[in-house]
Amino acid sequence: MPFELPKLPYSYDALEPYIDARTMEIHHSKHHNAYVTNLNSTLKDYPELSSKSLDAILSNLNDIPVPIKAVVTNNAGGHFNHSLFWPLLKKNGKKEPEGKLKSAIKEKFNSLESFKEEFTKAAMGRFGSGWAWLSFDKQVGLVIHSTANQDTPLADNLKPLLGLDVWEHAYYLLYQNRRADYISAWWNVVNWQEIEESYQKAVD
Ligand code: MN
Repeated sequence: MPFELPKLPYSYDALEPYIDARTMEIHHSKHHNAYVTNLNSTLKDYPELSSKSLDAILSNLNDIPVPIKAVVTNNAGGHFNHSLFWPLLKKNGKKEPEGKLKSAIKEKFNSLESFKEEFTKAAMGRFGSGWAWLSFDKQVGLVIHSTANQDTPLADNLKPLLGLDVWEHAYYLLYQNRRADYISAWWNVVNWQEIEESYQKAVD
């Protein structure tokens, strides 16, 4: 099978009490796993697509044959978004960005606090299921935006640096309908070092 469920870089309970072990286990072993399984079974009869990277598939959605376009967009997107999401979580990591990312955030959003406010607004404002993002655009630099369902920033030619899953499956067990509480807890486990490294790669 061309695509595989990545292992988490920590245990299911590593992010307690901000994100609970049961949510992490179901989210990774059921939800993410289902995107991978569905993607592989859909691409079985399309070797020219299954030999491509996820990035290449998702950056060129118009190249996907029409009969499988929606299912590939959703499941390749789900696999990509979650693969990005897991390493962006870390407990007891650094509390804020440093270096070039810190300067870029300050330049674009005035302060880390106002960046967090704007990002939170994007995450709260995403109606239904989807993601909030901090992405990098070659022309305008850092940009906060959100996508529906499992749509990815790649489809808009953006390089995602930070993503937050706001599907209810990401928080319902612990937070029920309280998305705002989930988001404010999530800020405690943002892996700033990982974002700094992606930013560095994006600007190089
Ligand atoms: Mn999810």
